[in-house]
Amino acid sequence: MKIIKTFVAALAVSLAAMSYQAHAQDKGTVGIAMPTKSSLRWISDGNELVAALKAKGYNADLQYAEDDIPNQLAQIENMVTKDVKALVVASIDGTTLSAVLEQAADKGVKVIAYDRLIRDSGNVDFYTTFDNFKVGVLQAESLLKGLGYPEKPGPFNVELFGGSPDDNNAFFFYDGAMSVLQPLIDKGTLVVKSGQMGMEKVGTLRWDGAVAQARMDNILSANYSDGSRVDAVLSPYDGLSRGIISSLRGVGYGTADQPWPIVSGQDAEVPSVKAIIAGEQYSTVFKDTRELAKVTANLVDAVLSGGKPEINDEKTYNNGVKVVPSYLLTPVAVDKTNYEQIVVGSGYIKADELK
Ligand code: BGC
Repeated sequence: MKIIKTFVAALAVSLAAMSYQAHAQDKGTVGIAMPTKSSLRWISDGNELVAALKAKGYNADLQYAEDDIPNQLAQIENMVTKDVKALVVASIDGTTLSAVLEQAADKGVKVIAYDRLIRDSGNVDFYTTFDNFKVGVLQAESLLKGLGYPEKPGPFNVELFGGSPDDNNAFFFYDGAMSVLQPLIDKGTLVVKSGQMGMEKVGTLRWDGAVAQARMDNILSANYSDGSRVDAVLSPYDGLSRGIISSLRGVGYGTADQPWPIVSGQDAEVPSVKAIIAGEQYSTVFKDTRELAKVTANLVDAVLSGGKPEINDEKTYNNGVKVVPSYLLTPVAVDKTNYEQIVVGSGYIKADELK
C-alpha cells in the first residue's frame, strides 16, 4: 500500500513538472544577453531574470559574452535563429547591434535594452534601467559628504574617473556627477590637479579595474609626488574603485598619517561593501537588480501577451534614432552609516557574506 502511495505521489509530482514545462514551453523562450561574469551584478541580474521569467512561464536562454563584442553578437544572432520570442540585452558596446536587431525585427522578436541603452537602432522596443543621471549625482554628493563640505570649506584635490565610453550609461553617470562637482570646480573649492576632465580623458574602456589602477598610478606620480594629497576620487563603479584603492595603497594611503581619500562607487558589490566597512572606500550606489529583473520580466510578459507594458519615462533616452520608452528605477546612495539597513536589510547581501 505504502509503495503504491509513494508511486502515486511520485507520478503526481512528475505530471506537475511536465505540465509546468509544457506551460513554460507554451510561452516560448526569451534570450538574455549579458555582458560579463567578471562583475557580480551581471551574474545576479542574469539569475534573477531567469527566475522571474520562469515564474511567468517562459524559458530563458542566458548567455554571457565576457566583454567580447563579436561573441555577444554571435550569441544574439544564435538566439534569433533559434526563434526566441524576445531579447533582453545588456550590451557591451551599445552601438554595435543594429544589424542583428534588424534580423530580430524582421522575425517579430521584441527587443528590450536591459540597464544599458542600445544606440543607433530603431529596433529597440523598450529600455529598463535606473535613473542613471541620479546615480552620478549621488556619487558626487557622497564625495562632498565624505569631505565634510560645506562645514570644511576646502579646497580639496579631486580626481575623476568615468566608465566605458561605449556604454551610454557612462555619460549619464559622469554628467550627473559633474552637475554637482563642476560649480565647485569653477569656484576653486575642488581642484582637479591632473587637469584631466571630460569623458574623452577620464573614460575607462570596458569598465576595467586594471585600466583605472594604471591611470591612477600615473596621476599620482605625475601630480602628487610633491607631498600634496588626493582628497577624493570620483569613481563610477566598484570594480574601478578597487583598482583606484590598490593604486592609492601602493603609494602609502590608508595609514594614520595618510588617510584614505573619499572614493565613490556603484553596484554594492560584496568586496566593495567590505571595503566600505573597512574604511577604504567611502560609498557605493545600490541598484536593486532584483527589482530591475522583475520589472523587465513583467514588461516582456506584457509585450508578448498583448498587454500594456509599464513605462515611466518617455523623454530621457534618445538612442540616436528614437526616444526609447523606458522604465527607470531609483538608485540609493550607500555608505558606512546605512549599508546595514539598505543592502543587508533588503536581503541583497547576507550579513555572513560581509564577514
Ligand atoms: C551599469 C553599472 C555597472 C557598469 C559596469 C553600467 O552599465 O549600469 O551598474 O557598474 O555598467 O558593469
